[in-house]
Amino acid sequence: MGAERIVAGMDRHESLKTIQERHTPWDMIIIGGGATGLGTAVDAASRGYDVILFEQADFAKGTSSRSTKLVHGGVRYLQQGNVSLVMEALLERGRLLKNAPHLVSDLAFIVPSYEWWESPFYGIGLKVYDLLAGKYGFGRSEHLSRKQVIEEIPSINPEALRGGTRYFDGQFDDARLAISLAITAAEHGATVINYAGVTAIKKDASGAANGVSIRDVESGKEIEVFGKVIVNATGPQADAVRRLDQPNAESIVAPSQGIHIVLDRSFIPRDSAIMVPHTDDGRVMFAIPWYDVAVVGTTDTPIDEISLEPTPFDHEIDFILETANRYLSRPACRSYIKSVFAGIRPLVKAGSGGSTAALSRDHTILIDPDSGMMTVVGGKWTTYRKMAEDVVDQASVLGELETAACMTESLRIHGHHENPGILGRLSFYGSDAASIQSLIDSDATLLQPIHPHLKTTAAEVVWACHHEMARTVEDVLSRRSRSLLFDARAASEAAEHVAKLMASELGHDEAWVVDQTAAFRLLAEGYTIT
Ligand SMILES: Cc1cc2nc3c(=O)[nH]c(=O)nc-3n(C[C@H](O)[C@H](O)[C@H](O)COP(=O)(O)OP(=O)(O)OC[C@H]3O[C@@H](n4cnc5c(N)ncnc54)[C@H](O)[C@@H]3O)c2cc1C
Repeated sequence: MGAERIVAGMDRHESLKTIQERHTPWDMIIIGGGATGLGTAVDAASRGYDVILFEQADFAKGTSSRSTKLVHGGVRYLQQGNVSLVMEALLERGRLLKNAPHLVSDLAFIVPSYEWWESPFYGIGLKVYDLLAGKYGFGRSEHLSRKQVIEEIPSINPEALRGGTRYFDGQFDDARLAISLAITAAEHGATVINYAGVTAIKKDASGAANGVSIRDVESGKEIEVFGKVIVNATGPQADAVRRLDQPNAESIVAPSQGIHIVLDRSFIPRDSAIMVPHTDDGRVMFAIPWYDVAVVGTTDTPIDEISLEPTPFDHEIDFILETANRYLSRPACRSYIKSVFAGIRPLVKAGSGGSTAALSRDHTILIDPDSGMMTVVGGKWTTYRKMAEDVVDQASVLGELETAACMTESLRIHGHHENPGILGRLSFYGSDAASIQSLIDSDATLLQPIHPHLKTTAAEVVWACHHEMARTVEDVLSRRSRSLLFDARAASEAAEHVAKLMASELGHDEAWVVDQTAAFRLLAEGYTIT
């Protein structure tokens, strides 16, 4: 198998060639390949606009691969009385399930009650949640007896347990959705390029932003690209990109770090998640069954430094273990943690100070009064489509583009499959599963898992290289497959094998294999508890 099998639209070399050969401005230049930027690219391209998207690292390398993996209205925002935000998110939750059933599913959550007042209190709140979801509801909430709670969550701490409330919400694979959005955008004519960071904003004689300089991380080459509208969708890095435009721009992002720990699935052995509505720091915490693991989190720690690879703080890990252990019959400890990952919320500053839990979860669109560069920041994964629609509506006016209606409410996302359940382990590939199976049928060695503790097969590595713009071992082990989150040690051990497979597909030499293996192993240390 050689590099010639790379498909159009997700062929990085072709995309770079396109931008170098092009002399007319694009309708829209999007900076940032997370949920917000990719969603904007899908929206704009499906309206017929001519779009280019640049991501400095890999798609979803930032916050968009580090979420709690919930497609939800946000029970907590209901507690805060933010009904419109919850209603919008519930509507988007329903749309996402319809448009990407291979990546989104419903999930039962149980709020356990240890005090007499908890069941009626949370029961009423969750009935309101049901009502707000209306026809987009995922299932009706109900009271559960003590016995039913123990049946649904055999690992629950039974001491003083009175019963609980069950409600339904959505769950997804964040990085896989991002990759599917990148492919959807490409299928609608957008050009998307990873490992291409924007280093400068270009201006015309009047000071209006009319282009960007990008650096191709692989070749080190700088390229200039021109466009009618520039959209800064760089999440936590939004202020850094705004300062490329206006060096004195004041910060609008209040970064807050959230971490998750990943435990063995035996901690949440059935299909229901635990939802803790009020932790000691006033947050909601979840313990969720996800693939073959249990994901537990999250924290909310205001931070000063924004990094693409944030480090979990020890006190955050302790806080999650302590809180989770109050609800688990078999306490978890550090040595049980298979992986730990941190992400940064790009919260929008709401005037003066206060805790980050009180900051706006809505999105904000800013248009710089001098340059006209648009910045979109905030929101959440669940509402990425609505954010994108708002951005493109405004961008089309700003760039004097021909008016075109938004198509994404019912636009199928790449891989859409009516009945993904029949696809077994490959269900998250949706309609691509058949092609991956064909690869295996043509070469049985590709059925081999990349590690005895990981289910990802060699065929998926090959697929990721040719169809999903995977460029590094990290792309494959962290975002095309979720191996790094499932088991950081096993992923580290698999790195060399994956590097060799990728090298033979992408035409790299032994030195590349050595570099990639070392780089991934260093990265994986940050996800491993020693
Ligand atoms: C701990 C945590 C849990 C969460 N859980 C949920 C959840 O369960 N459900 C939910 O709906 N939402 C959740 N969210 C929110 C959601 O994940 C974010 O709102 C969303 O991912 C933000 O996407 P984004 O595209 O704006 O930012 P990002 O995903 O960070 O994307 C920005 C991208 O811009 C790129 N970039 C930066 N600078 C440049 C440059 N100069 N040139 C090119 N590219 C650049 C970055 O590399 C990055 O990939 C959670 C967030 C956190 C932190």
